[in-house]
Amino acid sequence: MTLKFKEPAPIVDHLNPLESMMQRFDEAATILGLDESTYNALKSPEKAVIVSLPVTMDDGKVQVFQGYRVVHSSKLGPSKGGIRYSMGVNLDEVKALAAWMTWKCAVVGIPYGGAKGGVQCDPRTMSDGELERLTRSFTGAMRDVFGPEKDIPAPDMGTNPQTMAWIMDEYSKLKGEASPAVVTGKPLVLGGSLGRMEATGRGVMVSARSAMAKLKMKPSEATCAVQGFGNVGSISAKLIEQQGVTIVAISDISGAYYNPDGLDIEEAIEYVVNHKSLDGFKGGKIITNEELLELDVDILVPAALEDQITEENAARIRAKLIVEGANGPTASNADAILEANGVMVVPDILANAGGVSVSYFEWVQNRLGYFWTEERVNRRADRIMKQAFDAVYKAARKHNCSLRTAAYIVAIEKVANTSKLRGIF
Ligand code: NAD
Repeated sequence: MTLKFKEPAPIVDHLNPLESMMQRFDEAATILGLDESTYNALKSPEKAVIVSLPVTMDDGKVQVFQGYRVVHSSKLGPSKGGIRYSMGVNLDEVKALAAWMTWKCAVVGIPYGGAKGGVQCDPRTMSDGELERLTRSFTGAMRDVFGPEKDIPAPDMGTNPQTMAWIMDEYSKLKGEASPAVVTGKPLVLGGSLGRMEATGRGVMVSARSAMAKLKMKPSEATCAVQGFGNVGSISAKLIEQQGVTIVAISDISGAYYNPDGLDIEEAIEYVVNHKSLDGFKGGKIITNEELLELDVDILVPAALEDQITEENAARIRAKLIVEGANGPTASNADAILEANGVMVVPDILANAGGVSVSYFEWVQNRLGYFWTEERVNRRADRIMKQAFDAVYKAARKHNCSLRTAAYIVAIEKVANTSKLRGIF
């Protein structure tokens, strides 16, 4: 018999997210004067579980998938973080993303630690039945890791509300009781929260508004370019436009669209609903995604992928304010260049934390068994984002550092103090 092996996961070692995260962690830890014991305790994840998941595929053959769950910290509460289905999933990536979740939850002050999970698979080539069997198998393997009081997954790349519904169902069956609070990002009918869909973009808008006020930038005179037009990019663009800002460029995988007089964002959203992408959108002149990043605008919102602003293009960025909708859109080696050029960067762990904040509200509502109106969700989420921005801004002034370093300082200090109170050694 000839065995056929799948191609190994791509190795992206030049932009290892764990190294990028650690560089920023180290910088903040140095400014804070973190003692060596706490430093060592915080940089290592509490738990890393690797499982092999045999799944019967539609052709009757069994394929074995590698699954990961890393709990970076549960010091502030049960750990929280998404599950990613992608061929690129590997332990280093999951470790970095788990730590990011710890800092993100700490910076916005929600009572969660950080975790992340992933399965190395290509969801685009799998049928719904295969995805369901894989998800149920993963949930079974993680039954002692997950739990409403222990570790609460959510959607990430390659997973969606349907995946969360399968996890919730399988976990509830295994425990013999209804456990909606074991996952967030569920469909509304299964206990999802109103406002969750718009929450990340809304938080980006609140961060942009707070930063504009600090920079004395008048929304009605400001221009903005948004990279990525999926959930985060399109909602951010819509809500920032509603603040009076002129959105002059948007982009997605099909390319970038530029109109110096302003694009009609509602029309662009409608276009994507009908055509699945911006391909063929006539609202603006076609430019490249690289050109979009370097436009002469006041605000830039990267809301697509990691490592878009790098050592190579950072010096050419003309925006005065960058609000990071995506996770990790700025490579760590670009930080110093942006800072030297006076660009204010609202970092990912602050700017896109609106999503996890409303996930927290979903969990609270599930445990209460009582659901809030969208107005209440939005009002409370806006308050969390505004308070977090102000705390980070204050820390940046105190330590004379960037908002990114300040966000890490606020987060690390909170987790370190909690660890000391609880006693770690
Ligand atoms: P999405 O899949 O809905 O949208 C991604 C968008 O990026 C799409 O418009 C896609 O066409 C575009 N894109 C892909 N490759 C591109 C390229 N090379 N150039 C330009 N555009 C490109 O994803 P999303 O949920 O909007 O997530 C976007 C980013 O925000 C990710 O980094 C994600 O981790 C982060 N994020 C999302 C949430 C959330 O609640 N959805 C929360 C926090 C952070």
